[in-house]
Amino acid sequence: MKPPLKKVDFLVIGGGVAGLRVAIELAPKGSVLVLTKDKLTESSTEYAQGGVAVALSDEDEVSIHYEDTIKAGDGLCREKAVRILVEEGPGLIRELISWGAAFDREGSKLSFTMEAAHSRKRILHSRGDATGREIERVLIKKARSFPSISRYDFANTLDLIVQDGRCIGASVLRGDSVINIFAKAVILATGGAGQVYSRTTNPMIATGDGIAIAHRAGALLVDMEFIQFHPTTLYSPAAPQFLLSEAMRGEGAVLRNIDGKKFMPEYHEMAELAPRDAVTRAILSEMIKTKAKHVYLDLTHMDKDFIKRRFPRIYSTCLQYNIDITEEMVPVSPAAHYIMGGVYTTIDGETNIRGLFAAGEVACTGVHGANRLASNSLLEGLVYGARTGRKASEYVQGGNAEIPHDVPNGCAQNGTMSDIDIEKTRSSLRQLMWERVGIIRCQDSLSVAKKWLGGKDMIMDMPFNDRRGFELKNMMTVAALIAESALLRRGSVGAHFRSDYRERGENWQKHTACQKDRAADWID
Ligand SMILES: Cc1cc2nc3c(=O)[nH]c(=O)nc-3n(C[C@H](O)[C@H](O)[C@H](O)COP(=O)(O)OP(=O)(O)OC[C@H]3O[C@@H](n4cnc5c(N)ncnc54)[C@H](O)[C@@H]3O)c2cc1C
Repeated sequence: MKPPLKKVDFLVIGGGVAGLRVAIELAPKGSVLVLTKDKLTESSTEYAQGGVAVALSDEDEVSIHYEDTIKAGDGLCREKAVRILVEEGPGLIRELISWGAAFDREGSKLSFTMEAAHSRKRILHSRGDATGREIERVLIKKARSFPSISRYDFANTLDLIVQDGRCIGASVLRGDSVINIFAKAVILATGGAGQVYSRTTNPMIATGDGIAIAHRAGALLVDMEFIQFHPTTLYSPAAPQFLLSEAMRGEGAVLRNIDGKKFMPEYHEMAELAPRDAVTRAILSEMIKTKAKHVYLDLTHMDKDFIKRRFPRIYSTCLQYNIDITEEMVPVSPAAHYIMGGVYTTIDGETNIRGLFAAGEVACTGVHGANRLASNSLLEGLVYGARTGRKASEYVQGGNAEIPHDVPNGCAQNGTMSDIDIEKTRSSLRQLMWERVGIIRCQDSLSVAKKWLGGKDMIMDMPFNDRRGFELKNMMTVAALIAESALLRRGSVGAHFRSDYRERGENWQKHTACQKDRAADWID
């Protein structure tokens, strides 16, 4: 039996900063349907704390933001993509402010803070540490003002529908039924994949669905080995892996090992403000040296009222777990935070599949290179969301994007649950990724991971029709792609650190590429 179907002009999969900004750009051009896997506000965007980087302060310049981004990317940024980010960013932020975004101010002037690896104070923030929530609020309000934008929440995209090399829709699980949604253009904005690791700052939705779905459809994926690990998440067995923003170190918080000793100056000239990968590895090294499961973030020397005012969300969350950050040092350890690689796109969000576009964390425009500069991803969602929307609309207006009259049955699948223990496999996978494909990798650890994944590869082809099942399938796929790319890159660059190849290695300025039915390889 054919599954029910729906037709729209534009299908946007994801309702974080990127998906919403795409939808707003497309709204005047036709009907737009936005899908979210959970409730609308369950996204990484909603949880983003520190802020959004933009060269708007009197002391800053676009060219300095450019230099800082390139430097953090450790030689692998696409320079053109970075230039677009920093040059178009200020306009997009001004636009957001005109739509009602309330960034914190000092008097009448916008207030900018410092974060690691930025050489200027350029991080805008809102209500102290609730920047993502404010951006999401404003974008939702703006999107709601367009009657052409509709939404399906709790709509789990299972797969893309590709016909004659053109993406014409997606099959989506809504409640208990699978529907085929056909569109003239499909935009993936499904966010990241942090959930493939047992320690992560990412919300539950971040299971890498968009990356796996695109891979199954034949999309080119690049730079999958580059995972950014955030140095400081709350470490307490009773508490969630809650992020303690980089901005805390920007405001003067220091790291101490469990013996109370400051250690960052021994590892990097920028001490607490060194790039994330350097801080993360320094913390890991101290944890190993002191045989501890965490280090401390110390704010106790800072003004108490300032801390409560500047980091209200972090202050109150830690208090819920009986940690008063103004009075005591906070136990912290690193966690997976951001994936720099993903679905390859041009600077206009086009993928290698006609009719399929991607924006935000799921995409790889090359803007972050081997290591993302803190607070550049919300900006990326805005800048590349708008550009991708414009390109998708041009594509449709070009006239080659009509939905076929006789739409195919799509790839809606009647899944059968096999005897796989989904929860147990998911948990083993996440642990394996943390231990073997984590902050420090080597041939042996990656080979163990590859073997384990290879032994379970039938899961990657299984037709699951329930959320936990298809998430597992997607997580396995993403994990395998990360491990394979990490094995290929025999060198250490940016966030990818191999203990057996500490130098940059051969081919280091190339990018790893993965595509269905092909082994990982290098591209320029
Ligand atoms: C705790 C935390 C703090 C952060 N702090 C900052 C910061 O201060 N500054 C900064 O620049 N960046 C920060 N980041 C990173 C930044 O928040 C994200 O990179 C960015 O918000 C990603 O936006 P996005 O629109 O690509 O994805 P998201 O905001 O994650 O949205 C993804 C959307 O896709 C939907 N989706 C996923 N899978 C499916 C599916 N199968 N079917 C249908 N829908 C699906 C989800 O429901 C969701 O709506 C932080 C991230 C985290 C986790």
